[in-house]
Amino acid sequence: MPALAVQQLTKTYKGGFQALKGIDLSVEEGDFFALLGPNGAGKSTFIGIIASLVNKTGGQVEVFGHDLDHDPEAVKSCIGLVPQEFNFNLFLPVFEVVLNQAGYYGIPRREAKVRAERYLRQLDLWDRRDTEMRKLSGGLKRRLMIARALVHQPRLLILDEPTAGVDIEIRRSMWSFLRDLNAGGTTIILTTHYLEEAESLCRQIAIINQGRIAERSSVADLLGKL
Ligand code: ADP
Ligand code: ADP
Repeated sequence: MPALAVQQLTKTYKGGFQALKGIDLSVEEGDFFALLGPNGAGKSTFIGIIASLVNKTGGQVEVFGHDLDHDPEAVKSCIGLVPQEFNFNLFLPVFEVVLNQAGYYGIPRREAKVRAERYLRQLDLWDRRDTEMRKLSGGLKRRLMIARALVHQPRLLILDEPTAGVDIEIRRSMWSFLRDLNAGGTTIILTTHYLEEAESLCRQIAIINQGRIAERSSVADLLGKL
């Protein structure tokens, strides 16, 4: 069973703009997958639909065999999302940001605290657990969003442009964290417009352009063609 199976996915926004024009894509369990494309290609729209933030216009989405239309709650419980922008919870301390998310998934407080500590330590944020989120740098905020997205232990982690605007040192630490997470069995899909990021991290890649999949291959094969 694939982690993600998408068929003929379309999205037309209210003004009539067609952001997705019939996407077919599948991602195997355990994969580290890059969705690469220029700004405006439809990447955020695509993952917004998978993560139930955007309504699709047409087509089918299945996550670990759960159909998004028939069982959206099952889909949500399989997915952790690291959004590109986060302007919520800004006045909450780091630890509470993660605990809040755990509460949203109904994880008992004691277990939530254990997990929050584990992920904040792994992401080098434990020393800042009492710092308000708004006081973190962009890169640290993004690492916090990763901890938050993992607290319900999703099988699929989706990251929207995880390292855009993040300095090189924090980018490297994020890359190494994500590699370890994937090695532990979590399927990862990220969007990026840096080929270098896809090349360094991912095994499979799809290139999206103007709402269509322009290319789909292993990263190794794609680089061989360039
Ligand atoms: P949905 O169909 O998923 O409900 P909407 O079409 O309602 O999405 O759009 C959500 C909001 O985003 C609207 O308020 C819309 O005005 C706004 N929006 C419009 N154009 C853009 C754009 N190019 N990028 C981001 N947001 C936009
Ligand atoms: P990417 O993530 O690849 O940069 P997006 O999915 O954000 O692309 O956007 C794809 C296209 O859809 C863009 O042209 C964008 O302006 C448009 N778009 C995004 N959100 C909305 C919205 N809410 N309403 C109308 N148009 C939108």
